[in-house]
Amino acid sequence: MFNHKRLLLARRRRRLTGKALAERAGLSAITISRLENGENEPDEGSVIRLAQALNYPPTFFSDDDPEELDTSAVSFRSLTKMSAKEREAAVAAGALGLQLNDWVEREFTLPKPNFLDLSYETDPEVAARSMRQHWALGERPIGSMLGLAEVNGARVFSLSEDTASVDAFSFWRTDKPFVFLNNFKTAEHSIFDTAHEIGHLVMHRHGGPQPSKAAEREANAFASAFLMPARDVRASIPRFITVDVIIRAKKRWRVSAMALAYRLHTLRLLTDWQYKSICIELGKRGFRSSEPHGVDREESRVWQKILRQLWAERKTKTDIADAMNIPLDELESLIWGLTTTADRPERSDPRIFLRTV
Ligand SMILES: [Zn+2]
Repeated sequence: MFNHKRLLLARRRRRLTGKALAERAGLSAITISRLENGENEPDEGSVIRLAQALNYPPTFFSDDDPEELDTSAVSFRSLTKMSAKEREAAVAAGALGLQLNDWVEREFTLPKPNFLDLSYETDPEVAARSMRQHWALGERPIGSMLGLAEVNGARVFSLSEDTASVDAFSFWRTDKPFVFLNNFKTAEHSIFDTAHEIGHLVMHRHGGPQPSKAAEREANAFASAFLMPARDVRASIPRFITVDVIIRAKKRWRVSAMALAYRLHTLRLLTDWQYKSICIELGKRGFRSSEPHGVDREESRVWQKILRQLWAERKTKTDIADAMNIPLDELESLIWGLTTTADRPERSDPRIFLRTV
């Protein structure tokens, strides 16, 4: 049986219009549209042509219905910046991420989700403090935001869309939190995104109104307070704050210079005028478009462990992709930038998981 929903999913992942796919596969646009609507069944030859045109294995199209994301529950940061094609491709990556997660959870035991439901909390500063308390973090800087999310049960995947206009997003599937990160951004940006998405997961768990500007402001304020606790910032920052002070100090919390300046302004350690002139100076020094003196990218401990374990069993990413009937490049996209040091000696984190089978 041909699964028409999977055809639509693969086409969206490849960012092709129906017409473009028709041309590549040597079929008519009407045929594609009927196949996607489930009105027609393709013959074997057409399935092979579609598979080749999309660079997906033919077996992909005979699997069960893909789990569709409830897009109303997905927190996209800036819908306006993304084109419909980019958004559809990102949502389709989410569906593949769910499938990959199912595969992982059949093979491994991941940490149980340990998030508070703070949807009643209206002050992001208080929400950030509650989450720090819940995770027993005190006031100290976070060593690895990604690792922290993972050991507390977040399922983290990558959106390796080669564009900065695709933002991170997160959602709950039943009782499990999912976070998708765009790893084409700077390491500081991804760290802030992870904290931002945790803000959504705890403060906007029950959806509510569509991703609003207010929800975005809350998630940003949560991330800012969570990464840079007020007391720690006040204790660490000298009284006389210059651009150079900020550039030196940002390393402590592994945030961007702009994010630290914003936090200092929120905490009234910078006046409006000082904040404005510091932003201008940071812009001149290239801190608006990039992050000079940046920190290392965070690594997924879960994916490090999974890949090491598989390699120990003489399995590769290709074996996972084959088991899931997806192309290797899609699997690599889902974990792109999450781990680069799988060949280094293992730094074991017993909280991550145990092999179940
Ligand atoms: Zn957001």
